[in-house]
Amino acid sequence: MGTRTDNCIFCNIVDNKAPSEKIYEDDYVTCIKDINPASTHHYLILPNKHIRNAKELRPEDAELYDRILSTVDIILEKQGLDPAATRTGFHWPPFNTVSHLHLHVISPINKINLFKRIMFEPHSYWFVSTDYVKSQLKVSKYST
Ligand SMILES: [Zn+2]
Ligand SMILES: [Zn+2]
Repeated sequence: MGTRTDNCIFCNIVDNKAPSEKIYEDDYVTCIKDINPASTHHYLILPNKHIRNAKELRPEDAELYDRILSTVDIILEKQGLDPAATRTGFHWPPFNTVSHLHLHVISPINKINLFKRIMFEPHSYWFVSTDYVKSQLKVSKYST
């Protein structure tokens, strides 16, 4: 399903061609541990399909996007995390690290290390909320 890019590390992780610690996976999404955790818990939820970044989500990806969001609840439950102490968000281009869409789930917020605090600053123009991305999805639906 979907397009895969051989030289994309996250596509390779989804296909088990690259090592990772998977926390959860289904037909649509995969959740792995971040190799450079910013806090005690740091997970990445990836669509199995290769989408470059949050800006490239299309209206037809709305269902997939909802699956990414509902996976957050699964991870919170599974790892016993407090939703109020957890930060989620996407990089916003051009401030990408890996060019395969991934939602960061970081917990607890008060233990995010100093150097990463700026990188994952909520509502900054380089790290955006799930609501913001969702609103952009709706906008693009009517602007095309
Ligand atoms: Zn990829
Ligand atoms: Zn990232």
